[in-house]
Amino acid sequence: MEKICASTYENVTCPACGLLCDDLRIDRESAGQLKVTDKGCTKSVTFFERAYQTSSPRIAGKTVTLSEAVSKAADILRDTNQPLFAGLGTEVQGMRSVLSLADKVGATLDHMNAYTSFRNTLVVQNSGWQVTTLTEVRNRVDLLLVIGTDIVSHNPRFFERNVWNKESMFDQATSAREVIYLGGQNIDTSAGISPKGVKPTVLPCNLDRLPEVVAALRAIISGKTLIATEVACIKVSDLQSLSERLKAAKYSVVTWVSSDLNMAHSELTIQNITELVIKLNATTRSSGLPLGGSEGDYSVNQTSTWTSGYPVRSRFTRKHPEYDPHHFSAEKILENEEADALLWISEFNPEKTAPHVSIPKIVIGHANMQANDADVFIPVSTAGIDHTGTMFRVDSSVSLPLGQLRNSSLPRLAEVMSAIEAAL
Ligand code: SF4
Repeated sequence: MEKICASTYENVTCPACGLLCDDLRIDRESAGQLKVTDKGCTKSVTFFERAYQTSSPRIAGKTVTLSEAVSKAADILRDTNQPLFAGLGTEVQGMRSVLSLADKVGATLDHMNAYTSFRNTLVVQNSGWQVTTLTEVRNRVDLLLVIGTDIVSHNPRFFERNVWNKESMFDQATSAREVIYLGGQNIDTSAGISPKGVKPTVLPCNLDRLPEVVAALRAIISGKTLIATEVACIKVSDLQSLSERLKAAKYSVVTWVSSDLNMAHSELTIQNITELVIKLNATTRSSGLPLGGSEGDYSVNQTSTWTSGYPVRSRFTRKHPEYDPHHFSAEKILENEEADALLWISEFNPEKTAPHVSIPKIVIGHANMQANDADVFIPVSTAGIDHTGTMFRVDSSVSLPLGQLRNSSLPRLAEVMSAIEAAL
């Protein structure tokens, strides 16, 4: 990020989705209000241009000092046996401090997006996968197969930055790239239209029948003969033709967004995608690319994994980390009344509020957040706007620094978590 004059920043990194675009231009207006003046998308505008306001710590709705709120939060956690830390909308430094406190009080950890991101995690843990980076896509892809999603409702600038980019490292004619959408109904495929006006191929089907379609495509790529003539209203001949195009491509990329694959056992469909990629690599080059990402989910999982050996949906109750993607779901724990206190974190998004619970509730969140029913509310500053930080991109292999665009009187999440830990 560069500060090009007193209140204008260029090459700002945007943490609002997993792409972490690092080319935004942002102006700081009076009273700390920000304006995206170049390279923004609807998501980034919502993120950076949110009304700037400050807020105070509260205990049971009454304004208190930060040290009083910290002390009350420590009192709550000291008296618990099974605290649940959920939400976890933060970046790397914030997550480090969360893990430290979780270890101290024996907490269970779950991210607000884990119910969809664990669909990918299960595949990695079961069979591994062969995936690529955004940089590789930008420079090498010649055929992009998009499965069950429009991509752009999650990652609005994906095509602009990674498919229809004007230049590539190997002088590839990027405008000649081929895009194919497979699965889903009424998906907006306009982002897949090339700069030359070539429309993408679209093979629609009901999303709940996508597992059959992907399994059939994998079978065809593996050389099996299907007796059926169509699968979920897609002609088998069209799937055969898709298989041939994938085999003929020099570098195909097969992509999906786990939160769009809302069908039972969607991890099996993701595994079929990653296994067909492996088959293609017998004769050509192909890679998977999981997309999406928000509220720091990739950063939280990365930090948790290198620190404890596990992604979130982990527990520290027995003084060593345990992992269970099914039983350590925050939703299930609250439903089964297995937690005796909830600590909810959302530093990026005030709309990601804590669930209503009947146990003591501590909320550490964005200054604009409504948290009237919390026993303790501590507003914190936001990484990428109010203070620096680090985030992992959706391809997990690249981390980017987040800049500071204005001064904030609010503490960072890491400062609050360390203060609570010290007060225990
Ligand atoms: S596509 Fe994602 S990272 Fe890029 S500017 Fe939009 S919200 Fe930010």
